Amino acid sequence: MIDLTSFERTCEQVRFSVHEPYAEVASASSSYSLAHVRLTGLQVTSTSVPILHRALERAAASLMLDVLPEIYVVAQTEPNAHVFSHGSARSPVVVVNSGLVQLLRPPELEFVLAHELAHFGLRHDAQARSQSMQRNAEISADRVALVACKSLTLCTRVMITMASGLPMEYLGLDIDTFVRQLDVDADEAARRWEFQSTHPALPFRLWALLRFSHSDVFARLSGQGMDGLPLEQIDDQIDARASTMHREDDAEDTTYATALAWHSVRKVLQGGKVDADGYSDLVKKCGSDYAYHVTAIALARGPEAVAAQAKRSLQRLQDTHPELARKLLSA
Ligand SMILES: [Zn+2]
Repeated sequence: MIDLTSFERTCEQVRFSVHEPYAEVASASSSYSLAHVRLTGLQVTSTSVPILHRALERAAASLMLDVLPEIYVVAQTEPNAHVFSHGSARSPVVVVNSGLVQLLRPPELEFVLAHELAHFGLRHDAQARSQSMQRNAEISADRVALVACKSLTLCTRVMITMASGLPMEYLGLDIDTFVRQLDVDADEAARRWEFQSTHPALPFRLWALLRFSHSDVFARLSGQGMDGLPLEQIDDQIDARASTMHREDDAEDTTYATALAWHSVRKVLQGGKVDADGYSDLVKKCGSDYAYHVTAIALARGPEAVAAQAKRSLQRLQDTHPELARKLLSA
């Protein structure tokens, strides 16, 4: 049985899809270890690196995360950041490269830190089972960061700055040029995508985030009322465009597993809740990572959203693998 904090609930409400990496326990597979960053980097506190510490406080506060994770800066020029879990209590540790701190201004740093906190809140594992799962994880984490910062302009600045490596004073806010970079022919895009295997291309991340900003969920979470397109519809558009950009490395497996998971959680969901017996049934049927994901989304979004997801995932299975759809329905 899962009990979600408001931080995790926000993360689950915007999750892009269930094809995402998930770590049941603290991930020791990170390329950093706590000992390594402690011995090679600088711990960020309100006195050691005040700007970065303040940005972390603001990102955590806007996501209603009460406990600040440990954070370190390491001397690396590539503008990048990273989060990993440490110890049996799954405590998050954020590592920020010096190149990122030098490149971004405080509000943009806040976006990047919210994105890293989101990986923790969404329980993303560094060792995903497939590349597409890792790419999906980035899309979800960007959404949480947008909810935290509430500014599309700011998200755009981050993506354009990260892609160009140029500080803002050199850049105009030209979204069209950046997003049009995605308009390359499918073969070439597939190669480019493979090259940047675990992270979606930055123009794609921005495009996906702009799509998300038209959703009903974003309207609600950003206090702009209820108007917007259903999130499922937007996720379908993003999924469709993503699949033109990379080879389906695990299409059959994940389509079936996803449909099975939605179908099963719908059966065990009683009055908006899943009891302990229902949850262990679900784990038996779908495995712990799918069981966790669909249950968390069900608790955060409610039975109607689950019914819609179940219908949609079954439809997709029927379209692509009708024999597997029959197997699912007869199970
Ligand atoms: Zn990320």
